[in-house]
Amino acid sequence: MRIKIRLSKKKLQKRAHAAELPAVRKAVAPSVVRVYFPARGFACTYYNDKFDLRRGDIVYVDGKLEGLRGFVTEVSYNFKIKLSEYKRVIAQASTEVKGKFYTAGEQLITFSPETLPYKKAAAWFLPPADPDEAYARGSGAGETLLLERFPKKIEPQAVERGEAYYAENRVVYLELAGARGRAVVEGRKPYEVEFTYQNGEIGGLLCTCYEVSACRHEAAALLQLRELLQIIEKQYAEQFEQSGYFAAVRKATLLEYAVDNRENGGFTLE
Ligand SMILES: [Zn+2]
Repeated sequence: MRIKIRLSKKKLQKRAHAAELPAVRKAVAPSVVRVYFPARGFACTYYNDKFDLRRGDIVYVDGKLEGLRGFVTEVSYNFKIKLSEYKRVIAQASTEVKGKFYTAGEQLITFSPETLPYKKAAAWFLPPADPDEAYARGSGAGETLLLERFPKKIEPQAVERGEAYYAENRVVYLELAGARGRAVVEGRKPYEVEFTYQNGEIGGLLCTCYEVSACRHEAAALLQLRELLQIIEKQYAEQFEQSGYFAAVRKATLLEYAVDNRENGGFTLE
């Protein structure tokens, strides 16, 4: 005997929707988590059924605090809540870092593209891109300038403020992959700076802040790049030549995110 199963329209829609979802995600036990938001100085409770969270993890949530970075301070699996009363955890930033770092002033450098790539480090500071958000960017590539002489080529005010940012170690992350450079600079909030660097020349300088001309974040990133390249040339020329890649992260940042917050895992120095 053949059994015919008829699916309602609703069920069919549900199936079609499920087919569009990314391939099998590891099932996680639902939890209720307490999340602390440093920018606000307080913690709130969220429902989470997407991520395997531990204390110290960096997360982003929906609701009023959407877009703000939060730290998980408590995870509970023993709960009964009304779902309608809770907002959810919508993204987790991985703070697991494995690889070799070299010291360079206030920064730690890795020459391996897998150790701490831009996307991973940027998620420590910036919320995940909203798929509904539209971005616009200009078509102008801007002029190129020599890294050695750039302070003379951009507005003195931007240079002056950039120097202060650089001195305060606000360039928390900087990556140079081939000719493509990206950095995260902490201003009033974190900004993303991008540029190209080839044969001593900087081009395509862009920042996510509102400034129309060169800004302090760009200036700080270039000063940091210059310092890092000088250190690399003196101490790590061989490593850089081999990989054509480096990523530098502020020492305090790496310790804060990848070491302090973790409850397990090893740490190697040599
Ligand atoms: Zn800027």
